Amino acid sequence: MERQRKGVSVVLIPSPLQGHIAPILGLADILYSNGFSIIIGHTLFNSPNPSAYPHFSFLPFSDQLTESEASTSDPLHLTNLINIRCALPLTRSLSQLLSDPSLDPIVCFISDAALHFTRSVCDSLRLPRLVLRTGGASSFLVFSLFPLLRQRGYLPIQECRGEEAVVELPPLKVKDLPRMESKDPEALYEFACRMSDELKSSSGVIWNTFEELEISALERLRHELGIPSYPIGPFHKHPTLASHSSSALRSPDESCIPWLDTREPNSVLYVSLGSIAAVSEREVVEMAWGLANSRQPFLWVLRPRSESEWLQPLPEGFMESVGGRGHVVRWAPQTQVLSHPAVGAFWTHNGWNSTLESICEGVPMICMPCFADQKVNAKYVSDVWKVGVQLPGEVERGEVEKAIARIMVEDEGKFTRERALELKHKASLCLQQHGSSRRSLDALISHILSYNNRQTHPVAGEEAK
Ligand code: UDP
Repeated sequence: MERQRKGVSVVLIPSPLQGHIAPILGLADILYSNGFSIIIGHTLFNSPNPSAYPHFSFLPFSDQLTESEASTSDPLHLTNLINIRCALPLTRSLSQLLSDPSLDPIVCFISDAALHFTRSVCDSLRLPRLVLRTGGASSFLVFSLFPLLRQRGYLPIQECRGEEAVVELPPLKVKDLPRMESKDPEALYEFACRMSDELKSSSGVIWNTFEELEISALERLRHELGIPSYPIGPFHKHPTLASHSSSALRSPDESCIPWLDTREPNSVLYVSLGSIAAVSEREVVEMAWGLANSRQPFLWVLRPRSESEWLQPLPEGFMESVGGRGHVVRWAPQTQVLSHPAVGAFWTHNGWNSTLESICEGVPMICMPCFADQKVNAKYVSDVWKVGVQLPGEVERGEVEKAIARIMVEDEGKFTRERALELKHKASLCLQQHGSSRRSLDALISHILSYNNRQTHPVAGEEAK
């Protein structure tokens, strides 16, 4: 279908983490194919690759991060630094852009929910601000209730109460609540409160999820937040996507695909813990021997711990013992891997993108959540959607072997796959004409266009007075 230009621009700002960059560029692509001109504002750290998106304009702004601060080893600390330091550089870059007569007029700004500093920037420029939450709605609901959870004594988490039900948020137990290691033990609590306050003050929230998947959380959030809500996901499957450019910050090892081509349908376990989660040496050893002992073929993404390393070291004798049954890479073309017929299950950390990508391909999951929203996502996978099983506690080779057998070999796996295929079907229906996500997208487009007739930002230089 031919693209009809709308003659207006939208500025989008991702948080510079892989799991945030991919969905916001996906959203930008969807808006582009619906006629908007796109400007991506970005930090210098982990900047997206402009050559993969020649149809967008890019607006770099200084993040003022030192070399040691520009690291994803403590993503919460990194996000906090960006929230503190980027307001002025972004305001300057944006105000120049707003006075550029060669651009289609900028009618609205879409910020990653994690970048709450954008509220003051947009207020000062009188620019309407929408927010994209890149995680799921069910986990956001938990973050938005952090003050209540603290008041009722669930937070800070006490390990001895892990099995207690969180009655305000069924089916979660205390052990499923978000947690995150950071320099400051209060950092996650403060971040979650600030993120949900600044989200409530925005003109609307966009979700990379779909109504049929998270209806109860979405309904509760509509009530709690009191702002327009647009669940228009899954972004990466949108039929209106302008391009299927890769937003990956690393180059994928394409050798996985010919390797998968040689395997039987549904026979391979794909293993990846996303772009941030770090696994200790002990965990690698337990994962490796669990995989070897399972006797199932596997494709394992094992990121190096530093750029100087080729791969995180594997236990001695492991590769020899698995022979051609295992393939290990540094980074995979994940969506392509998950849609490959040879892939039978996904051992995942349940980052929201990975969870949604697995759901969209009908691939059952073995859940090993590590931090932040991942424990909530894993609980929904195992107990609500029933499309996966959770590894209990600390990773241990015997438990790994059992979980792999449950999903890949036993009858339980067959039923889990059937449910995963049903969910895949729902995910594809919501994107068809008149599907829930398409209707939400139409509403979002009308919302953005409504700003066109009432441009409110000041003329160049006015904000500096
Ligand atoms: N990903 C990928 N190749 C890999 C590992 C991950 O392309 O080898 C992509 C994956 O498809 C997903 C993103 O990286 O889109 C990871 O996001 P997620 O929210 O799952 O986890 P995070 O990295 O934020 O913890």
